[in-house]
Amino acid sequence: MSDCLFCRIVSGEISVEKILENDEFLAFSDIDPKAPVHKLVIPKNHFSDLAQLAKADSDLSGRMNLFIADLAQNLGLDQGYRIVFNTGDWGGQSVFHVHGHLLGGRQMSWPAG
Ligand code: AMP
Repeated sequence: MSDCLFCRIVSGEISVEKILENDEFLAFSDIDPKAPVHKLVIPKNHFSDLAQLAKADSDLSGRMNLFIADLAQNLGLDQGYRIVFNTGDWGGQSVFHVHGHLLGGRQMSWPAG
C-alpha cells in the first residue's frame, strides 16, 4: 500500500533505526519516544489493526507476540515492559498498519491515559 507510512518503511522508501528483523516482522525505534525504550513492531504485510491481523492470520499474530518477546529479551528489559496496540480512533491509533509499541526502561503507571 503506497499510501501507508509503515509499508513505505518496510519497502525502504522511508529509513528508520532498525532493531530486529526477520522475513515477517520489523522492529524499529519510535521517532517520538514515550519511554527510555520505545520500539515499534510491525508485520511486513499490511493489516490495518490487531483485530484484522488476528482474524486474517492467527498464526502470524501469535508469531508477532513471540517476536516482541524476543525483542524485549534482546533489549534486556528484565524488569518488565509494556506492549500497547492502539486500535481505532478512540484507541489512539494514528497509523493504520498494525503495530505493537514496546515500552520499557522505566516504571509504568496505570491506568494509561
Ligand atoms: P499510533 O499512534 O499508536 O498509531 O502510533 C504510531 C507511532 O508511529 C507513533 O508513536 C509515532 O511516533 C510513530 N511514528 C510515526 N512516524 C514514524 C517514523 N517515520 N519513524 C518511526 N516512528 C514513527
